[in-house]
Amino acid sequence: MATEDEVLKKLRERDAFAENDKADGIAQRGIDKGYATLSPAQQHVLEPYMSLPCDGVEDPGGHPNDCSKQLQGAELLQALDDEGYYDALLCEDCRSDYYDWYE
Ligand SMILES: [Zn+2]
Repeated sequence: MATEDEVLKKLRERDAFAENDKADGIAQRGIDKGYATLSPAQQHVLEPYMSLPCDGVEDPGGHPNDCSKQLQGAELLQALDDEGYYDALLCEDCRSDYYDWYE
């Protein structure tokens, strides 16, 4: 399965497309047939959904690290996979902060 297909699946599971019927339909098609089979116009509709901001982490003193990284591709997929564990979407840097502070 291509990374984009898995990202689509994860995004749909978290209702990312719930408020946009058109995008939701295209996402479902992408999941069923593969993101690569979508037309450029269809991919364009999904594009804004295919990247999400990192949530960042708070240091032990409660100060957010103000991470503003946009997650996409494999990094986004990893973040979505581990969202349940961290209770947040985290980029590589924030994961490493998280380990330094809490593990
Ligand atoms: Zn981050």
